[in-house]
Amino acid sequence: MTAGPDGDRLARALDLLERLVGFDTVSAKSNLALIEFVRALLAEQGIDSRLTFHPSGEKANLLASVGPRVAGGVVLSGHTDVVPVAGQPWTSDPFRSVRRDGRVYGRGTADMKGFIACALALLPQMRTASLKVPIHLALSFDEELGCLGVPALIDDMAAAVPLPLLAIVGEPTRLKVADRHKGIYGFETVVTGRDGHSSAPHKGVNAVTAAAELVLELDRIAAAFREEGPFDPAFDPPYTTLNVGQIEGGTAVNIIARRCSFRWETRPLPGDDPADILARLDGFARDRLLPRLRCIAPEADVVTRPRVSVAGLKADPDSPAAALMRRLTGANATIGVAFTTEAGLFQRARIPAIVCGPGDIAQAHQPDEFVAVSELEACLDLLGKVIAWAADPVELGA
Ligand SMILES: [Zn+2]
Repeated sequence: MTAGPDGDRLARALDLLERLVGFDTVSAKSNLALIEFVRALLAEQGIDSRLTFHPSGEKANLLASVGPRVAGGVVLSGHTDVVPVAGQPWTSDPFRSVRRDGRVYGRGTADMKGFIACALALLPQMRTASLKVPIHLALSFDEELGCLGVPALIDDMAAAVPLPLLAIVGEPTRLKVADRHKGIYGFETVVTGRDGHSSAPHKGVNAVTAAAELVLELDRIAAAFREEGPFDPAFDPPYTTLNVGQIEGGTAVNIIARRCSFRWETRPLPGDDPADILARLDGFARDRLLPRLRCIAPEADVVTRPRVSVAGLKADPDSPAAALMRRLTGANATIGVAFTTEAGLFQRARIPAIVCGPGDIAQAHQPDEFVAVSELEACLDLLGKVIAWAADPVELGA
């Protein structure tokens, strides 16, 4: 890949997007082929990469820096994994990008290989721009499983790179500037009952039925948030949400179910504490459900364990990330987004972060996911301005 005039940027980005989509990086699988592809691309241009690995060795984060080894740089952050396609009605191969009607279709085009392709397409420009502060490329794994990969990347960054000034997380916002998002906290609740013959249900404790009561209690808690708030109109929906996503229980139709488990999550507004929801569910189990069950089976139990916790992104109007993006996009307003990103984790690591990337979250995780070519063009323009700023980093006043 060679440097070319600006007009070639789009062609390069489209070519790179096609290559990136071609790597089946569904979170459950290895992303190493993609990482090696990017590493080779960087090496061609004389840029070293640092990798940090999943304990299995089968997935890696990549960190690379262009420009001087000084503090105050810009992190361009993207996750390399994508959500599964199984069971979705795709009209073309999800791992072969297809260009049609001004759009590029393929798994990950919007979420978020489009952004990564744009960043990679601009490497020649980054190299020749005489950057005064560095631009760091931060590619993670396992974002879709709950931002499991990026903590190792952030730790490595802290050890290897002088503190960056800000991070741009290129999740699809249609290039609007998002300065806040909800967190995500996932749990598994396991109900233990007592088994027995289905002809004598009164002699056992049916864990499936008990789990159903707990699920309905979560539904009531969700309804209270929906109806009573608190509300933040920056988000769609403007309240804390709950979802029970999976349930599994029992062994046969003629056996009283001894065990039932379900997995659920909450996405609280920044400020709402998931511990309150957990306390309410535990209270219901302790005061209303278990006393009844334990009359029959003293061993009956309900145990909830956390599985995933990802910090939300708190708005900070004074952050340099918000200031830079306001300056470069001309946007006066920032938005909130209802989905969770790695930005909250960068923020917690003292790197102010903003979410801004090409494509629409409405297409993410869907069959026939796409990104509009015009969005990629606009992203290239914006990143071009980021590069120009890094070459001449004027003070970011409020
Ligand atoms: Zn994403």
